[in-house]
Amino acid sequence: MAATRKIYDESGYELLRNSMVEHQIVARGISDPAVVRAMLEVPRHRFVPPELVDSAYDDTPLPIGDGQTISQPYIVALMTELLEPKPDDVVLEVGTGSGYQAAVLSRIVKKVYTIERIPELARRAKELFDELGYDNIEVFVGDGWEGLPDFAPYDGIIVTAAAPEAPQPLLEQLKVGAHLVIPVGTFYQRLWRFTRTPEGFVKEPSIAVRFVPLVKDEI
Ligand code: SAH
Repeated sequence: MAATRKIYDESGYELLRNSMVEHQIVARGISDPAVVRAMLEVPRHRFVPPELVDSAYDDTPLPIGDGQTISQPYIVALMTELLEPKPDDVVLEVGTGSGYQAAVLSRIVKKVYTIERIPELARRAKELFDELGYDNIEVFVGDGWEGLPDFAPYDGIIVTAAAPEAPQPLLEQLKVGAHLVIPVGTFYQRLWRFTRTPEGFVKEPSIAVRFVPLVKDEI
């Protein structure tokens, strides 16, 4: 089959992005105006490999190299909405990947810390944040199972890789009232939202999902 790579100009990508938000995000019930605004703003086509730019606004996850993926736009919007982000929040993301989820969060909150175990992905994401002028994101290379205790507690934590259960260190790095949004499960996974209360944690289910695993490095 002939290659069908299309090259749009920036206004072409903007049209695709507007259509993505209308049909994939708003039509499916995402209603937080800050989330909708961020999804309209962040140039998703900059976060996918060059050979996939024509698919950047499709209703699907895409490969980003190293066996990893950038999540489907709707899933990014849903996880962001579940987090209930506010302008003064300091949030943590585990699993930087392409950097797209961190970029979306960074348009809503004050500060985003994001941690990635693959140095090459972390490096590329950081470069892109610099290029786009997203200067409220800090990228760390490390093991997200432990969270990022140096800047804890957080107003919210998003994990973009699936774990068999919510890692205890992440729960402990939440402020009271803050949410942890995480896909839980091995083959069959579901998105869960944990909320820290003065007494412990409240756990709410969301939709079934499919994420790459949160890797546990053997020491
Ligand atoms: N949020 C990303 C999608 C990430 S895919 C985006 O918007 O593009 C999941 C990412 O989690 C991968 O990049 C993977 O390398 C990373 N990851 C997996 N296990 C990890 C761990 N233990 N610590 C940190 N990152 C991890």
